[in-house]
Amino acid sequence: QAGVAEADPELNAAIGKELVRQQDGIELIASENIVSRAVLEAQGSVLTNKYAEGYPGRRYYGGCEFVDVAETLAIERAKQLFGCKFANVQPHSGAGANMGVFFALLQPGDSFLAMDLAAGGHLTHGAPVNYSGKWFKPLPYGVREADGLLDYEAMERLAREHKPMLIVAGGSAYSREIDFARFRAVADEVGAILMVDMAHYAGLVAAGAYPSPVPHAHVTTTTTHKTLRGPRGGLILTDDEAIAKKINSAMFPGLQGGPLMHVIAAKAVAFGEALRPEFRAYAKQVVSNARALAAELVDQGLAIVSGGTDSHLMLVDLRPKKLTGKAAEAALGRAHLTCNKNAIPFDPEKPMVTSGIRLGTPAATTRGFTEAEFRQVGRMIGRVLDGLASANAPEANSAVETEVAQEVKALCAKFPIY
Ligand code: PLP
Repeated sequence: QAGVAEADPELNAAIGKELVRQQDGIELIASENIVSRAVLEAQGSVLTNKYAEGYPGRRYYGGCEFVDVAETLAIERAKQLFGCKFANVQPHSGAGANMGVFFALLQPGDSFLAMDLAAGGHLTHGAPVNYSGKWFKPLPYGVREADGLLDYEAMERLAREHKPMLIVAGGSAYSREIDFARFRAVADEVGAILMVDMAHYAGLVAAGAYPSPVPHAHVTTTTTHKTLRGPRGGLILTDDEAIAKKINSAMFPGLQGGPLMHVIAAKAVAFGEALRPEFRAYAKQVVSNARALAAELVDQGLAIVSGGTDSHLMLVDLRPKKLTGKAAEAALGRAHLTCNKNAIPFDPEKPMVTSGIRLGTPAATTRGFTEAEFRQVGRMIGRVLDGLASANAPEANSAVETEVAQEVKALCAKFPIY
């Protein structure tokens, strides 16, 4: 039988171009990574053909003996990796994992506390356009304007005043350590369940490079594809058997039908990789690299929200250079430095424009970058943005962008992928 190159040249061309884009560009999107060949292979395996509604040993279809092995491996490795008693590896995505918790533990109309999207929370933490904001009652907390740090006092005040059913900690653009014990203390005080969404930090948590929420939270959700470096998907962890039962029923048959067995197999591979010592070294390097990049960007005249980072990501405040996130993302993209515009806390610009960009180090760390390369990346970002700030029109910056793109390509060639 023909492979995709012969069977579908049009699609194959797009895949080929995407491969070259990944090879020749520096990926600075904080939520992305570069998976191993083993993860790719498992995900592209014949397990994609299999229906397996239910859970290992309790399926609604025959022929599940081998996919049961795959799912059990994924579950056992997830439990070992994060030190917990129960794991559900079936959520198709991080959003699905969060929905599983809401569906299992809340009733429509129940209130919950979570970080505001504008302060670094995720859409599933109560954005009005999301199910979490449409069907439940979000009570948003944020960060302090003075220093960009999580406003624990305001969060605790809200919790005491409203006594929500659930408190969510975690976010998509918060770079600092989160005091999960403090969240648990207030959850216990007001009788709320604590859910931690560690989607961004999971790989760092697995490797001991960021504090683990798992001992503090009643339930922990995550994606598997960010710092954790697995296939795109979700994961739910808990130590509480009663919660675990509700979560399992919520995921299937509550929200999903057949699990994606090829993705679950790839999760098993990724969790196995994350249990190895090399992964600890990678995670430690991710954080050191983020600190090096943040320091270089400050040297380049940019500001970092909260003054730095304790993780893999940082929010860059572009206002010192009078640039918007939209313009910076486009200019850096032309220089093969891929990132995303991101609102900074109390951003005066609209969400589609913003005053910031979010940068992360996981993907380039995976390809081998250390502090020296990230210092170089910081200088390149500085050059592109300084050029843009002094250009009278975006086109006037094209010489700098072309020059940096060449430098990026040369750097990437020293750290090849696939
Ligand atoms: N939770 C957080 C904190 C995230 O940052 C994200 C993804 O950006 C998600 C959940 C959702 O994950 P997914 O895109 O897999 O639905």
